[in-house]
This record gives sequence, structure tokens and C-alpha cells, in this order.
Amino acid sequence: MTARTDAPVDPAPGAPEPAAPSAAALAAVLADLRAALPADAVVTDPEALRDRARDGSATPPTGDPVALVLPSGTPEVSAVLRAAHAHGVPVVPQGALSGLAGGANAVPGAILLSTARMTAIRRIDPVDQVAVVQPGVVTKDLVDAVAAQGLFYPPDPASYAWSTVGGNIATNAGGMRCVKYGVTRDFVRALEVVLADGTVVRTAPGTVKAVAGLDLTGLVVGSEGTLAVVTEATLGLLPAPGPDRGVCATFATVADALAAANAVVASPHRPSTLELLDDVVLAALVAYDPDAGLPAGAAAMLLAITDEAGARGAADVAAYEAVVRAHGALTVDVAHEPERLDALLRARRSFNQAMRAVRGGSINEDVAVPRTRLADLLDRLADVSAQVGLPIGTGGHVGDGNLHPVIAFDPADPAQVAAAAEAHQRVLGLAVELGGTVTGEHGIGTEKRSALAGELGDRVLAIQRGIKAVLDPAGILNPGKKL
Ligand SMILES: Cc1cc2nc3c(=O)[nH]c(=O)nc-3n(C[C@H](O)[C@H](O)[C@H](O)COP(=O)(O)OP(=O)(O)OC[C@H]3O[C@@H](n4cnc5c(N)ncnc54)[C@H](O)[C@@H]3O)c2cc1C
Repeated sequence: MTARTDAPVDPAPGAPEPAAPSAAALAAVLADLRAALPADAVVTDPEALRDRARDGSATPPTGDPVALVLPSGTPEVSAVLRAAHAHGVPVVPQGALSGLAGGANAVPGAILLSTARMTAIRRIDPVDQVAVVQPGVVTKDLVDAVAAQGLFYPPDPASYAWSTVGGNIATNAGGMRCVKYGVTRDFVRALEVVLADGTVVRTAPGTVKAVAGLDLTGLVVGSEGTLAVVTEATLGLLPAPGPDRGVCATFATVADALAAANAVVASPHRPSTLELLDDVVLAALVAYDPDAGLPAGAAAMLLAITDEAGARGAADVAAYEAVVRAHGALTVDVAHEPERLDALLRARRSFNQAMRAVRGGSINEDVAVPRTRLADLLDRLADVSAQVGLPIGTGGHVGDGNLHPVIAFDPADPAQVAAAAEAHQRVLGLAVELGGTVTGEHGIGTEKRSALAGELGDRVLAIQRGIKAVLDPAGILNPGKKL
């Protein structure tokens, strides 16, 4: 396992940092929690708390939690929020802690509210085409359960084998299928949430169409646990797609691969996955998992997959093959067997771990720019890498304009740690400068707060903080995150 590296916590200009509640408030809240929850659902053992204090990002927690609570259902979540609200104690909702922005990290005196015991899949309905689930359901368990009924839940973050539906909703997670199906938000029909004072509300009916009132569902999606705790989700489903088949091609330059990707996007043959990996990432993946069957030595790899059935799928594959050949592909691997593509996708999903293994530490960015600016982004990332003297491996969802530049550094070398922090800031600035966003899917958390005002502008940021104040006037829900 590679070393975990602490990057500096990023303060948000104009936002108060959370202060630790008083000792009296912490004692009172613990008493209330123990009265409301079963004994084994309130954990205060310091080692257990340490284990749950941070997510998968490089950012450390900003303080020690007071307790970990493990509610089994909505009434218990409501009781936790009522107690926290009464005593002014912060609450940090937590799913599987796979987040990459510090969003689920502990803050001083926090109650860590884990959804680990809220794993019921309550309903899968082929006529309404919905699944109704508790937030702690692991995304892959949902995908498998609906597939068993001939249905399809498309959102597929690379962490889907262990991240939770609640975490995916709170971060509006993306994945490799977004290029065709959209992000998590596009499949959330309605939510049951617990507000900061413990009140339970439903944001919408679970109908396909619902336009009465403002879109509270959309507001909670992507709010990173700062507006409400999701306790139940009604998720839209689709009929099962056809088998995956596609083309994996390598190129002499990343510019050729990008041009081929753009030609695929502009064609009528919409892929269900369109991923690009540069030479640094390819080398890291080959070193990390030599048996994965990834092509070694190329400057770039492009993976275009269709999930259309029958002749339509065959036509898509033929079109992708023609496009990559027309753009000078060095090698072209046409895969009609889903197993071959599964192996490539499994390898692709190891991207973050492989890049962290390069030097022991990594900062994983997820900027998104208009597709027309991707070439500029890739050029400028190469400049940043040369200027700071660190490898930056870039790859990801080229079809969405959402790439993951991963900065690799040695955490034991202070000069490299400083250079990585410098590169991080430059990459974020670059995204905004190119008309994009500092985060396409991972969220702001504690890691990118200083970049938020630059992207949103002061007026929009003030509106968003005003909305937060309406829903959480005491500021107890995941303070020091996002806004
Ligand atoms: C190897 C790897 C690959 C990844 N690939 C992708 C990818 O392809 N696409 C992508 O989008 N992300 C990816 N991620 C990031 C991460 O997996 C996602 O952000 C995921 O959605 C987090 O889910 P989680 O259950 O682990 O949530 P956590 O990390 O525990 O929490 C994430 C955020 O959600 C909040 N939260 C959790 N549950 C609730 C709830 N019930 N109510 C309210 N707020 C809640 C937390 O407070 C926190 O702000 C990857 C991470 C890793 C480690």
C-alpha cells in the first residue's frame, strides 16, 4: 500500500472555519445520542474514530470527531440531527469514504454519521422503472440487483464496487458511462432527507415528471452533505442495454488520440464509454498491473465502447474503427467480447491507485472544460508538469471534457510536496481560465474551497451560502466543506 499524503487544507475566503463545540456541548450531545440509539450504534473508541476520520483524498481532517454513529433508519438519523442541533455540534455524513475531496473528513468535535447500516433495497419496480433504496447501499449491489430484473442503473463511478448510493448522490458522481447516460443527478427522481434540525421531508414524488415547486432534489444532489442527510432515494432505471463491444487504439501523440475522440463525439455513433489515457498514466497502469493487457509504450490510448445491441452496435464499432484508423492509430484492438473490455475497464479503474504508486503520493484532480478546449488543457498541463518538475498523468472521460490530471510526488520530499501544491493550484486555475470547472465529479470538499469563488463569482457564491443558511441556519451540517 502506498503512503497517504497530507496536502494543505484549502480555506474558503469569506467562510467561517468550524470551531470545536464546548466540552459541555459534547458531553450533552453524547448523552442524547446514547439515549436515542442502540448502544452499539454510538462509537467513541479513539482508534475506531481515527479509522473513520478521513476519506480517500490527500487532505487531512481538520479536527477530531466526538463520536461515530451508525443509525439503521430515518428515525435514528432524525434523532442524531435533533441532538446535534440542540447542542450546536457539527454532523459529517459519511458513506464509504471513497471521496477524493475531503468531503467526508472529520471537523473539530464532529459526529460522524455513517450510513453503513442503511443498506436496504426497498423496491425495484419494472413498471415505474425505479429503485427505492437506503443511502448506504453499495452502488454495485444496486446495479446487480436491478440487472437481475432486466433493468439498468447507469451511473458507474470507478469506485462503484464500494462507494455508496448516498455518497454518489451527495457528490453527483460521474463515471465512464456519462458520455451517453449523464451523471447521477439524471437518475435521482426524489429523495427523503433529514434537515439540520431533524425534520424529515420528501423532495418530490417519484414520478418521471414533476415540476411543482422548486427543484429541491436537484439542490441536494451534489451538495456534499452540507444541506441535508439523504435517508432514502428513488432512482430512475432503464431497460438493460446490449453487450459492451468496442475499440481500443493507441496513438503516437496524445493530440492524435484527442482528435479521434472528438471525431467519435461528433459522429452519429454515440459511445457509452469514451476514455483517453496519456503515456504517463499508461506507464503507471502497466507497472501497477502488468497482467491487465494494456498496451505498453504508446503515447496515448483511446477506448470507445458501445452498448447498443445487434446491428446498431456492430455499426458503432465499425465507425469507431474507421475513425481511429483515419487518425493514424498505431494499434487497433477491436473487441466484440465483453470480457476483453471488462479487463480493460478494470485496469482503467485502477488509474488513481496506479498513479499514487508512481511516487507514493498523488493529488487527483478532476477538472472539466468544454470539449473544444481539451487540446489547450492537455498542452498547458504538459507546461505545468515541466515547470514544477513532477509527473502529471492525465486521462479519463474525454467524451465529457472531464479529465483527471494526477500529480505524482514523493511525500517524504518537502520540495516535491510544495511543487505538488503549486501544480494543484495551477491546474485548478487553468480549468477556470479555459471556461471549465475545478471539479467535474469529485466535488469541492475541503480540498478545493479556495477555487470556488474564482469559478462561481462572488454574487453566485453569496446566493449559495444564503440557501445553505435557510436549510441549516446553525451551520452544523458538514461545516468547513464546499461553500
Ligand atoms: C479509486 C477511486 C475511483 C473513483 N472514481 C470516481 C469516478 O469515476 N467518478 C466519481 O464521481 N467519483 C469517483 N471517485 C470518488 C468517490 O468514489 C465518489 O465521490 C463517491 O460518490 C463517494 O461515495 P462514498 O459513499 O464513498 O461517499 P463518502 O466519500 O463517504 O462521502 C462523499 C460526500 O458525500 C457526503 N455524503 C455521504 N453520504 C451522504 C448522505 N447519505 N447524505 C448526505 N451526504 C452524504 C459526505 O458528507 C461527503 O461530502 C473515486 C474514488 C476512488 C477512491
